[in-house]
Amino acid sequence: MSYEVVIGLEVHVELLTNTKLFCSCANKFGASPNTQVCPVCLGLPGVLPVVNRKAVELLLKSALAMDCRIPEYSKFDRKNYFYPDMPKNYQISQYDNPLSVDGYLEIDSDSGKKRVRIKRIHLEEDTGKSTHLGTIDQSLYTLEDYNRAGVPLMEIVTEPDISSPQEAYDFLTTLKALLQWIRVSDCKMEEGSLRCDANVSLKKKGDEELGVKTEVKNMNSFKAVRSALAFEIERQEKAIENGERIIQETRGWEDGRGITISLRSKEYAHDYRYFPEPDLVPMKIEKSWLKELEESLPELPLARKSRLMKDYGIDEYDAGLLVSSKAAADFFEETFRQSKNLTGKQIPALQAAREISNWIKGDISKYLNAKGLEINDTALKPGQLAKMIQLISEGTISGKIGKSLVELMLEKGGDPDIIIKEKGWVQISGTNELLPYLKSVFEENPTVVKDFLDGKEKALAFLVGKVMKATAGRANPEVLNKLLKDELEKLKV
Ligand code: ADP
Ligand code: MG
Ligand code: ZN
Repeated sequence: MSYEVVIGLEVHVELLTNTKLFCSCANKFGASPNTQVCPVCLGLPGVLPVVNRKAVELLLKSALAMDCRIPEYSKFDRKNYFYPDMPKNYQISQYDNPLSVDGYLEIDSDSGKKRVRIKRIHLEEDTGKSTHLGTIDQSLYTLEDYNRAGVPLMEIVTEPDISSPQEAYDFLTTLKALLQWIRVSDCKMEEGSLRCDANVSLKKKGDEELGVKTEVKNMNSFKAVRSALAFEIERQEKAIENGERIIQETRGWEDGRGITISLRSKEYAHDYRYFPEPDLVPMKIEKSWLKELEESLPELPLARKSRLMKDYGIDEYDAGLLVSSKAAADFFEETFRQSKNLTGKQIPALQAAREISNWIKGDISKYLNAKGLEINDTALKPGQLAKMIQLISEGTISGKIGKSLVELMLEKGGDPDIIIKEKGWVQISGTNELLPYLKSVFEENPTVVKDFLDGKEKALAFLVGKVMKATAGRANPEVLNKLLKDELEKLKV
């Protein structure tokens, strides 16, 4: 029996505000425990919350970027439950009147381009963080840090439009890039500023009705989300094949063991006794504010990708890589602009664009991935890359030297012209300079020379290698090849 996979994601994203959602405590990761707290976020009696306008603004920007509708009326509700990380015993969230609904995010997956519908995006407060001594069920005590309590969270809920673990992964990657792009969140899963719960069910091919879903939590990376979903799909498939019924429950991903385990049976909305938050007035979003926010949005990744393809003649795949972060796309365009301002021989525009893109997606990305950095976190400046590409194109340095040069500039920056002189990286392109090296290589390898003269073409490569070695890789390959052939030709007579 083959099944269709149905996945919907609930993504929690911490917003990049200076202060918390309902008080003026700092919203900053990494402080010592319980140093960013006040009576409001500790839920002491008699305090009153005040909404942080910036948090609403960041949510609205995200909603507009995902083409959501912003209802005229929106309100906060209390979600009641007991847990030590939540001192008020209720979380201020939004229930039936969220700030935004009905949008979509386009993703580009193995299975092609696809729109994943966004059901809603609402605003709520984060909880504190519990640290259990040992495992949760056996610990002697639990430590609570309330620095995170009250940090603004936006919850993005998708429709069940995702059809595979890989699509879920691609959705998350695209969402993260978008939210970073518009500076709404830093989306650092390792710091908890992006968290994702994954809902998954199976149904028979062609069935209208959705199957019973399970919700998987506790994944600490996008890869873990993908693995957890793959595991859960297989588990459900086996269960169905064995004639068991899937029960609606919340399961936890155990990263070390690579399995999901049942945490609790699913809770329903009525379990939370939602009711309107009496201490906060409902919100009416002004049309003029929305218009202002819409106009303040930068060109978004998809639009920029199309424009990069059109303006610079780069293919869809490369353009996709460039818009995976705004920093990379900006760096690309700025390098191109500066390459047009260089004195000396200009590289044709399309070729320059292709080479800049190649360096960014090749050596530079490799370096950034290894160090976990963004391109603008490094010392490399667009003008330096532009200059380096020109130096390679005019034959002053080899492409191979370029690799060492770019790495050095990523670490320390610097003027490529000066660096290559200091390091002795300038290519030897003059025949007069190369000739002595050739002569000694000929003298040291008479049999190889004879082989070549006897018609063994392969011997040439050996001689090229020897000269390269003697010049520490600085011989200009084209000049060297031609010179070698000419000199060997002379020996024939
Ligand atoms: P609940 O009331 O159980 O929280 P929601 O309707 O709020 O369910 O949906 C929560 C998430 O689960 C959404 O992302 C939604 O797309 C997804 N979802 C809903 N039904 C299913 C299903 N049968 N299979 C997979 N995902 C589902
Ligand atoms: Mg729900
Ligand atoms: Zn506070």
